Amino acid sequence: MPGIVVLGGGVIGLATAAMLARQGHDVTVLERDPQPVPGSPDEAVQDWDRRGVAQFRLPHYLHPGGRLILDEYLPEVTKALTGAGAASFDTLALMPPVITDRAPREGDGKFVTVTGRRPVTEYAVATVAEQAAGVRRGVHVTGLLTGTPVAPGVPDITGVRTSDGQEIAADLVIDAMGRRSPLPAWLAAIGAQSPEEEQEDSGFTYYTRYFRPVGAAPPPFRAGLLTHFDCFSLLTLPGDCGVWSVTIYISSRDQALKRLREPGPWAALVASCPLHAHLLDGEPVTGLVAMSGIVDRYRRLAVDGTPVATGIVAVGDSSMCTNPSLGRGITMGLMQAAGTAGVVREQLGDPMALARAHDKMTQATVTPWYRHTVGLDRARRDQVNASISGDTSPARPAPARAQAAGQALQVAAMADAGLFRALSEIIGMLAAPAEVLRRPGLAERALAAADGQALPAPPGPSRAEVLRMLA
Ligand SMILES: Cc1cc2nc3c(=O)[nH]c(=O)nc-3n(C[C@H](O)[C@H](O)[C@H](O)COP(=O)(O)OP(=O)(O)OC[C@H]3O[C@@H](n4cnc5c(N)ncnc54)[C@H](O)[C@@H]3O)c2cc1C
Repeated sequence: MPGIVVLGGGVIGLATAAMLARQGHDVTVLERDPQPVPGSPDEAVQDWDRRGVAQFRLPHYLHPGGRLILDEYLPEVTKALTGAGAASFDTLALMPPVITDRAPREGDGKFVTVTGRRPVTEYAVATVAEQAAGVRRGVHVTGLLTGTPVAPGVPDITGVRTSDGQEIAADLVIDAMGRRSPLPAWLAAIGAQSPEEEQEDSGFTYYTRYFRPVGAAPPPFRAGLLTHFDCFSLLTLPGDCGVWSVTIYISSRDQALKRLREPGPWAALVASCPLHAHLLDGEPVTGLVAMSGIVDRYRRLAVDGTPVATGIVAVGDSSMCTNPSLGRGITMGLMQAAGTAGVVREQLGDPMALARAHDKMTQATVTPWYRHTVGLDRARRDQVNASISGDTSPARPAPARAQAAGQALQVAAMADAGLFRALSEIIGMLAAPAEVLRRPGLAERALAAADGQALPAPPGPSRAEVLRMLA
């Protein structure tokens, strides 16, 4: 029995493998990086060599929506995360102090997440996955094996080839090779149609530092986790063992702000933001880590609804990857992993039906989040570009009603406990934006409460002040 072969043992490849193994499938993960899973979360942070994942040491946050998927499909992972010291973080704690209605409501538990640094999250998923599925590390997959097509012009994948010449047969191959997956080239090599693909670079550069508490407890997050100033953004994330990260991100084309890659100017900018300065009151556990050139990429293994190949599907970043500005990649990948398990359960014996059902599931569950994320990143890029060029009030067409309602919700949620929860469902990836805004009366309530006002600017330096600080 060939079974299912998952290419890539990152968080989503491993989670998909574990979900499928729990359904009774025989699953093997092939991972190029050779190092075994370290013996403890601490060793994972200190020593795990994961050069196949460029962002391994950069900040990672798991949204409440991702935690709920783990609870439902892989509860041992949530348990392992907690055991590894991951923070239990209640996103309702971010409710602005002006909202005096603090009474708990039924279902508030869904707003809590469990989140750790990336090595800790991957450690938790890997220890669980390795008990359920075969994980072979140090195996470099180099291409696809094909059999008799089940439809004209649509190759059928029957396994993979590795760099040491092995041929590994599979009933289904799952590409989880991440944002640099070579799948399109492999498909071209077997004569398949090219997948539908869109790509853009939002053009952000990220500068991050991690801290641990000097006293007993980590400091509170007094603003939301993501705060936009006119020409820079602050992303502050809880992690495991009391550790937290502080990230400044800017436009990559903003040469005037490049000194933020130096620890002194970086810390001076954070210190000048009254709601964030206290997040420097810890012991730095890393230097400043920088990353840029991160593209948003959408890849669909179907053209006009027809699969480009059967016997293969893609999950996680290989399928769709986004900028980390909103920290959505893992939760999007977990949604797709859970959907993949459902599709495989129903369709494994019928390659064409499986490919079509996987495409349909992906379009329904992940694509809306991809589009929403890219839309927000584009809007942010335009704001920052306007700030750089000094054109801070460019003429913009009036937004469509759905967009206007979304913007109004952000404003109105700052003063209303119910609307704050609705917004937190979107931010926490618990419900899709369109679903929340379709709820009876919600858009009307948000529009009336916001009354055409924009979100007030957070306390912090203007661009002119930042430039003076960095001169
Ligand atoms: C800077 C940054 C910060 C981020 N922050 C967040 C965040 O806060 N929250 C969040 O949810 N997401 C975040 N993300 C996104 C998140 O990292 C990804 O969504 C997630 O890693 C996707 O997991 P994956 O398993 O699909 O791919 P990956 O984690 O990239 O794993 C792919 C695996 O495939 C292996 N591989 C590649 N080629 C081969 C081959 N030929 N043969 C065998 N194995 C191979 C690699 O070694 C690797 O282990 C961030 C991304 C970046 C870039």
